[in-house]
Amino acid sequence: MAKKQFKAESKRLLGLMINSIYTHKEIFLRELISNSSDAIDKLCYLSLAEGKSVDRSELYIRILLDEENRTLTVSDNGIGMSAEELENNLGVIAKSGSLAFREEMDKSAAEGGDIDIIGQFGVGFYSAFMVADRVRVISRKYGEESANVWESSGADGYTVKPAEKEERGTDIVLYLKPDAEGEDYGAFLTEWKIKDLIKKYSDYVRYPIKLGEETVNSMVPIWQRGKAEASDEECIKFYREKFYDQTDPVRVIRVNAEGTVSYRALLFVPAKAPYDYYSRDYRAGLQLYASGVMIMDKCEDLLPECFRFVRGVVDSPDLSLNISREMLQHDRQLKVIASSLEKRIKNELAKLMTEDADKYAEFYKTFGLQLKYGLLNGFGANRELLQDLLMFYSSAKEKPVSLSEYTADMPEDQKYIYYACGESIARLSSLPQAEPVREKGYAILYLTDEVDEFVMNMLGSYGEKELRNVNADDLGIEDAGDGRTEELEKANEEMLGFLKDSLDGSVAAVKLSKKLKTYPVYLGVQGDITLEMEKYFSSLPGSENKVKAERVLELNPSHPVFEALVRAYASDKDKAAKYARLLYFQAMLYAGVEISDPSAYAQLICELMT
Ligand code: ADP
Ligand code: MG
Repeated sequence: MAKKQFKAESKRLLGLMINSIYTHKEIFLRELISNSSDAIDKLCYLSLAEGKSVDRSELYIRILLDEENRTLTVSDNGIGMSAEELENNLGVIAKSGSLAFREEMDKSAAEGGDIDIIGQFGVGFYSAFMVADRVRVISRKYGEESANVWESSGADGYTVKPAEKEERGTDIVLYLKPDAEGEDYGAFLTEWKIKDLIKKYSDYVRYPIKLGEETVNSMVPIWQRGKAEASDEECIKFYREKFYDQTDPVRVIRVNAEGTVSYRALLFVPAKAPYDYYSRDYRAGLQLYASGVMIMDKCEDLLPECFRFVRGVVDSPDLSLNISREMLQHDRQLKVIASSLEKRIKNELAKLMTEDADKYAEFYKTFGLQLKYGLLNGFGANRELLQDLLMFYSSAKEKPVSLSEYTADMPEDQKYIYYACGESIARLSSLPQAEPVREKGYAILYLTDEVDEFVMNMLGSYGEKELRNVNADDLGIEDAGDGRTEELEKANEEMLGFLKDSLDGSVAAVKLSKKLKTYPVYLGVQGDITLEMEKYFSSLPGSENKVKAERVLELNPSHPVFEALVRAYASDKDKAAKYARLLYFQAMLYAGVEISDPSAYAQLICELMT
């Protein structure tokens, strides 16, 4: 029979496995055992959905070592594969783990990286080729009479033929490679080594993994154990292996709920985002079990969008097993679980914030933006859930603080929570218009994320306190001017009009400011669109600068520069116009607005100096 070729993508992954110099080749066993465990899960699920029950005590995964023939066999009596499935599942790169792995491989190769990333992914069935030069898969599908064998010696293709097999399920026979320098494949034929690997990688598999007649794994899923029987360290080990994350999570959350709906959950807040987190491919959700039978790998309905980074497992005896995905969405029990998990996750994050600020900061660096988007996408509906989890850099502490910390530190006479938005903290700490706030010694939140200003608008207030942008005319601070500015503005009305005209439509008005103390000028706006919003919208593709802030040039009437302006206006209008343009350029510099024509600015300075 002619050999069939692997699909191109599969061939590349396969090639990689065959020639692997990866030092932890032992993970092949974890991969094969987890496939067996999946196959038994599928069998349980299917038979339940069909209204038949399988005798759970009969289910097993078995490892057979044959030193003489130098083979290692992984067998299971799970769902099995038909001839067609052997072809489709093993001839073509499988979904999930393997595909993600290959993509990361490509990235890593492009960056000249090594293949150390193998340990981070579910590399799947082909990992068998790291240790074997020939693989036979004999499988008989649940409900079918006949069996088939898939066989391959690697890159030159594979065959599928009819075969004999007594029982339902799959045997994977690995013909181990000959030992070579520094490569002891023979070790995989020794019982102690295999026991060790099962304990290390597959202890929590819920079906017995037998070596001969002995069951090696402890089988009780870790989430079914109490704190006394499973330490945080063990949970973290489980997390690393299950979710292929080499970084410890920042928080382990265990739930053992009894009430209207009973369930156990073991959740993790990762420290790092998975590589595909911000891509369309990322699928959020918790793994869902009903009485120990996995019914869904990623149940999205269990997590609110804003906590989509949380990973873990939920197991409930109260969920009906033969439930379809569509029905699950409307399942009342599931909703109860989801809403209690939501509260729990929030509380755990809040606790982390107070108990371990550094860890929280680590988490927030990675997922803070997700929380902000959660607030925006929910149009404020998630406010109660999220407002206490947000952190912003505070001028008073020189580090991020929560809104609750900020308000706790507010002096009695401080009316508002102040914030300023811009690109960098350095620039924000010298904003002219924030002078009155700084002078009072009030803390200002410096917001440097693009979405921050929208977040503040969405929040509007925190507790009793209103949030206030330092751009606002009214900063809630008594000014000593008492009417003097208004008087001066009246007196200089004509000049201000002239200055506005000489700026050629760049500003909507030129005004006298009540806020400035030592700075001569700042760039304010009127209306709802701020300069930061304008920047944000103009950065979006295809926006063509449609969203524009209405700029206002604010002058400090008690600054000597203002006197110079008045003198110039009286004696030399041309010079006054130049001054106006110069001050406008300055205001843009303070505000961090890009000057579109720097040569005009330079030219202007030269003209005024000579
Ligand atoms: P993944 O497990 O991520 O789907 P693998 O490469 O590990 O990818 O496996 C490919 C596919 O082969 C599986 O999705 C499954 O359909 C099938 N398969 C592998 N091992 C078994 C097995 N022991 N029993 C039944 N099907 C299996
Ligand atoms: Mg797999």
